[in-house]
Amino acid sequence: MGSNASDTPSIELLFLGTGTSSSIPHLDCLTAPPNRTPCLTCLSTLTPEGKKNIRRNTSAALRISGKDGKRTTVVIDVGKNFQAAAVEWFPKYGLREIDAVIITHAHADAMNGLDDLRGWTLGGAIQPHIDIYVSQSTFGEVQRSFPYLVSKEFASGGGDVPDFEWHIIEDKVPFEIKDTGVRITPFLVHHGRLFSTNPPPAFAPTPCTTQPTTPNLSGRSSPARPLSDACAPTTPKIHPYLCFGFLIQDSIIYISDVSLIPDDTWALLESESVKKPMPVLVLDCLRLRAHTSHMGVREAVATVRRLNPKRTYMTGFSHDISHDEYVTIGKAAGGDGPKATINMSVMELRGTEMIREGKPVWIRPSHDGLRVFISRDDKVIDETYD
Ligand SMILES: [Zn+2]
Ligand SMILES: [Zn+2]
Repeated sequence: MGSNASDTPSIELLFLGTGTSSSIPHLDCLTAPPNRTPCLTCLSTLTPEGKKNIRRNTSAALRISGKDGKRTTVVIDVGKNFQAAAVEWFPKYGLREIDAVIITHAHADAMNGLDDLRGWTLGGAIQPHIDIYVSQSTFGEVQRSFPYLVSKEFASGGGDVPDFEWHIIEDKVPFEIKDTGVRITPFLVHHGRLFSTNPPPAFAPTPCTTQPTTPNLSGRSSPARPLSDACAPTTPKIHPYLCFGFLIQDSIIYISDVSLIPDDTWALLESESVKKPMPVLVLDCLRLRAHTSHMGVREAVATVRRLNPKRTYMTGFSHDISHDEYVTIGKAAGGDGPKATINMSVMELRGTEMIREGKPVWIRPSHDGLRVFISRDDKVIDETYD
């Protein structure tokens, strides 16, 4: 980037993590006995050429030029290895204060790094507090799992806990990060399903299977309290587990965890995409095959073709496919003459076969540390691809 102020990007997107919940490499693959087929993706992380296959939990940092030209730093998700990601990338790219953390959902790989944010706020080390933006249900999960992060009265030991200001955000209701002019619209997508009956476990009534009994004067036992309606048998229903994606300014659609996009969210995304081509889409793609909670290559590429953004960076990978193999598959989605199939790996062959038919689109795999720049006139460049 040039040093001229007019060259300053409107948005800088830094991928802090691009792997699924387990991260890559897997210890299992690195220590496998010799009689097992080696996992080339995980083993490659031990070599300089394989560094792009080191993937922490999906997370991103954005620096966005607000209304007064001041840059606002927003972090999306702080998962199990956020601390290590921050140590690697914050100094390298001159990041320090965090103006807002927005959380997609309440899984460990999206929010278990909240405690590490004490590194910013303890004794005002970097800043007095951090503003956190979550859905009501994620807030409920934080309260349940880490009560001290919500109310200091639950802190023990030295009471060295982070200082947060909590903000509840809602589906398709845009919000502004403080008074910065930076606007973000959350929207709900399905991210697998709840493995329970209605209502969700956190709010379920006390189980009624074992009724306490008390002896009465006649010597017989009777229930201490009557069976309530809550204990009547219910028909199990499968509910989608909901997760936020985010529309950032009108420049980035970020969806890191998705198995299905519901119709009302499609309506929002398509209406944004017809106003002008979306500069950047970040989209979940776990592996070739779809998973209960994540898109596979086929679903991800179909989503890209429907939204038709300028550039798509896939994220949230498992170790099934290596970075270089995803590059080949991405290029095939762009209608590029792919490399001769005779040189392709099994995964490249299967992947390109799945997505070759259809409108050409620009898709590449993200990797940890990848930086993408969006200019005021919606030009997109990054530091890895042409
Ligand atoms: Zn592996
Ligand atoms: Zn998740």
